[in-house]
Amino acid sequence: MLKLDAHPSGRHFLQIPGPSPVPDRVLRAISLPTIDHRGPEFAALGLKVLDGMRTVFRTAHPVVIYPASGTGAWEAALANTLSPGDHVLMFETGHFATLWSKMARRMGLEPEFLTWQGGDDVLPEAPGWRQGVQAGQIEQRLRADAQHRIKAVCVVHNETSTGVTSDIAAVRRAIDAARHPALLMVDSISGLASADYRHDEWGVDVTVSGSQKGLMLPPGISFNALSPRALEAAKTARLPRSFWAWDEIVEMNDTGYWPYTPSTNLLYGLSESLDMLLEEGLENVFARHRRWAAGVRAAVEAWGLPVQCADAALHSPVLTGVILPRGVDADGVRHLIHQRFDLSLGTGLGKVRGRMFRIGHLGDSNDLTLLATLAGCEMGLQLARVPLAGSGVQAAMAHFAASPSRAAA
Ligand code: PLP
Repeated sequence: MLKLDAHPSGRHFLQIPGPSPVPDRVLRAISLPTIDHRGPEFAALGLKVLDGMRTVFRTAHPVVIYPASGTGAWEAALANTLSPGDHVLMFETGHFATLWSKMARRMGLEPEFLTWQGGDDVLPEAPGWRQGVQAGQIEQRLRADAQHRIKAVCVVHNETSTGVTSDIAAVRRAIDAARHPALLMVDSISGLASADYRHDEWGVDVTVSGSQKGLMLPPGISFNALSPRALEAAKTARLPRSFWAWDEIVEMNDTGYWPYTPSTNLLYGLSESLDMLLEEGLENVFARHRRWAAGVRAAVEAWGLPVQCADAALHSPVLTGVILPRGVDADGVRHLIHQRFDLSLGTGLGKVRGRMFRIGHLGDSNDLTLLATLAGCEMGLQLARVPLAGSGVQAAMAHFAASPSRAAA
């Protein structure tokens, strides 16, 4: 018989960059009895979570909630706004940007994939996978598109495969500077509710997000935040869609209901996590994640290993990519750490498989769970005989001790 939760004593350390550790408050909310999704009680829940999500996305416009993983919400963004053969401009920041462009091709679109221009000695096999979107390249490409064949620019805000965030406001400025009408679509699946994000202010037309990262829920629901231009585009877009179609969902959401069965219990969890995030205040939530990221970055630097994100200003508040010396199998080190210390770290994806691992610093965490995570990494690196310059744990302890968290101040 399959034994669930078959862990040694204590809690498993789920330090991958999503699914993130789920707070007990959220787990308790999810365990409430399922109610009738067409009954009178449900509407209050539906209206509350839709309103809360607008606050988190920082938008005054509709947010759509799907019973699907983030990949579904990616598809929804494209299917609702575009027509067969449409050109879309994307930027290779890492594995998830690559997957989104593959999806666009499978859906009958014509993605054009811009790649980072510039050198990198640390990861020459994956150019641009230590950097953010180059808005200047986007502007240049759009200026050259005098006939406006490009219908959308699609970028990833927090590239979960690399630990780099991109400047979305700069992408908006690039589109405006080129006086180009393309829609701006942004994947903030792993950024939302951990990293600063402003759907309306940054002029984003569709933001895609998911439940299992900053929102601290299990996987299973995902989101599209819309702009009036995106809703307008949906009126003439010709890609086929039914389950993903915004029109019926947005209409029924007005009264707190969905055209099909929503994930009732995950919506209970969402209601609770929204309470937690908004009680703390979004600015404080972002500062907490930035502080954790700085502590983890200090640890990796003390080990003498390269942080994957080449520019400290773009270091993701959500995760840190750690590059291992050439010849060391990063997945072997990860497996060892899992086996010895019951600690899960993120694997290297796509072009960086085996070259790096990822430490998640999001979800239900605190300074001490992060220090324990770093201790597990440090012991594992030592056991794997990876030469280290010093103690990352000591460096992170010094960082956390010197900068009290808001909760402790
Ligand atoms: N985009 C990003 C940035 C992600 O981190 C992920 C998942 O980790 C996805 C897309 C795909 O989402 P999902 O695995 O929930 O379908």
